[in-house]
Amino acid sequence: MSRKVVVFGSYVTDLTGRSGRLPVPGETVKGSAFLMGPGGKGSNQAVAAHRAGADVTLVTKVGSDVFGTMAVDFYKKEGMDTSYVFVDEKKETGCALILVDETTAQNEIVVLSGACDNITPEDVESCRELIASADILLVQLEINFDALFQAVDIAWEAGVTIVLNTAPAAKLPDEFLRRIDIVTPNETEAKLLTGVTIETEEDAKKAAAVFMEKGVKEVVITLGSMGAFAMNREKSELVGRLPVEAVDTTGAGDAFNGGFVMALAEGKDLFTALRYGNVTGALSVTRKGTAPSMPDRKAIDELYEKHYGKITAGGY
Ligand code: ADP
Repeated sequence: MSRKVVVFGSYVTDLTGRSGRLPVPGETVKGSAFLMGPGGKGSNQAVAAHRAGADVTLVTKVGSDVFGTMAVDFYKKEGMDTSYVFVDEKKETGCALILVDETTAQNEIVVLSGACDNITPEDVESCRELIASADILLVQLEINFDALFQAVDIAWEAGVTIVLNTAPAAKLPDEFLRRIDIVTPNETEAKLLTGVTIETEEDAKKAAAVFMEKGVKEVVITLGSMGAFAMNREKSELVGRLPVEAVDTTGAGDAFNGGFVMALAEGKDLFTALRYGNVTGALSVTRKGTAPSMPDRKAIDELYEKHYGKITAGGY
């Protein structure tokens, strides 16, 4: 049986422009396409986990505006619970300005967090029951930190497994990291938090060891086109990037985290969950956009079986 996942994080509307190359500062380039859609790391990861088959509740905050309405409509269409989508009467819905280079599939992003940077202590308090009764709490760093710390404290006191995706990159106090069961940085975030530049598997091990010295129990590092790495007290493993045609890498980390927590919620071990994350991340880069590019369970299972063999209940 799948256990309950709460994702506590951001919602922003993605405004994406595609062009032949990214402009340098001060330059204007002519683009080829514009796409508007639901985004934000918290929302994307919740959608990814939901589509992957997890029982997910998203806690987020939007503005009382057309973008906020768009978010709620999107969740309803997806069949997701909207009871914990708070509405801010003053602050606008967040948005992300995304530029995608069509030649390299690289991107550049400015996030304006808006309402989801204004989650109040009362908002968090009204989620106490929800968080304390969850099996897994998945958080990121795209909301106001006082609310994030408050939510993590509730989960920690209740013994809920806490997964922290350390995006976007930010320094964090050690006493906060001590409460985290699993961190899932990419290589940039891992470098900021551990001081280790990751170019090889050995480097990934070194960075993971620093996290573990700080009190984090298990570490997963996403390595973009190198694949993904995981380490716990018993072992470590690097799984290679799956061979797919990359169209748009925006949201790959979010897809990874969604697939990863779905597998954890189904009771799979860290290294099997790593593979599910790798598969979900790979599938997401084959499609344009963020939340709408998240794969469903059928596609995930097919690619999983193709590369890692028959799916079993506990492990690979
Ligand atoms: P972020 O978007 O946070 O920087 P990464 O770029 O590390 O995250 O990507 C997250 C995961 O998505 C990777 O660990 C990998 O599993 C998958 N992924 C990313 N890019 C590709 C790609 N080009 N081909 C296949 N899988 C990819």
